[in-house]
Amino acid sequence: MNSTVKIGNIIIGRGYPVAVQSMTNTDTADYESTKTQLLALQSAGCDIARLAVTSMKEVEVCKKLVLSTTMPLVADIQFDYRLAVACADAGFAKIRFNPGNIGDESKVKKVVDACKANGIPIRVGVNSGSLDKDISAKYGFGADALAESVKKHVGLLEKFGFYDIVVSAKSSDVGTTVDTYRKLKSLGYVLHLGVTESGYSQAGIIKSAIGIGSLLVDGIGDTIRVSLTGDPLNEVYAAKNILKALGLEKNYCEIVSCPTCSRCKYDLEKIVAELTDYTENIKKPLKIAAMGCVVNGPGEARDADFGFAGGDNGTAVIFEKGKVVKRVDADEILPEIKRRIDEY
Ligand code: SF4
Repeated sequence: MNSTVKIGNIIIGRGYPVAVQSMTNTDTADYESTKTQLLALQSAGCDIARLAVTSMKEVEVCKKLVLSTTMPLVADIQFDYRLAVACADAGFAKIRFNPGNIGDESKVKKVVDACKANGIPIRVGVNSGSLDKDISAKYGFGADALAESVKKHVGLLEKFGFYDIVVSAKSSDVGTTVDTYRKLKSLGYVLHLGVTESGYSQAGIIKSAIGIGSLLVDGIGDTIRVSLTGDPLNEVYAAKNILKALGLEKNYCEIVSCPTCSRCKYDLEKIVAELTDYTENIKKPLKIAAMGCVVNGPGEARDADFGFAGGDNGTAVIFEKGKVVKRVDADEILPEIKRRIDEY
């Protein structure tokens, strides 16, 4: 059992930061559009990207794609073990296959041999929608079935002397996903977390945040993928926000802002929106509090580096570590805060 795994230039597992993953949704055979999306994912903060590879023609394109970015790429293989073997030889940093449809032991052995020869790990990616028939006949489709499927297929890789393994067992049901990973923790392998097919936009983000967050907060999970319908950049933004919310990503500007109530006498939302844009690319820990009024503002934001709160007659106060240091007109808040950010 390996408690860490190297995927290209990224190490995941015990003691290492939780890595963010996503998956391209361009045509893998289309070199230009896939490369463009990979570069966009990387600049959004994606650590590892996966591509579905469905033909030998795509494998040929992938030989160029793996050289087009410094981000490690993972080949996602369903059904055809020969594609997995070809991808292992094509420069991919990891192979993900679905044990429910890859075929018999001899085929798995060929994939293992290719990954061993290339020094790359395998993700055993079990999915509730494609469980082996014998497993679902015995255990159904819940957490027990997912966990047993993982154990069966990890056991097969171990039988072939292969331990460079990442495990995932995803369900579209949040509770089932959480229960499954809790069962898998004792295996000791590196865990890739995700709620599969979690949906569209906010609904999908919330399902993923609850499922992934519940596990990470208990120290379970080494890498995450938020699975959303649509532009994969949104998966990366959501994943980064999950890590930030849990304190697992610290090098950013956190803006704490109050929900406002009738005590707020200025347009806090507009200021927070502008500040959010302004601080988007800050890569160091900084906390700014944006509060609607002085009644609770500075006190509620005691641990912020600095902030502001609306006062009477169109004025606002600027505070540091909970102490008021300056009074300004409301329209001077943004320039004042931006100046402090620049000097920080
Ligand atoms: S900080 Fe002031 S304006 Fe904001 S919610 Fe609290 S009381 Fe209302």
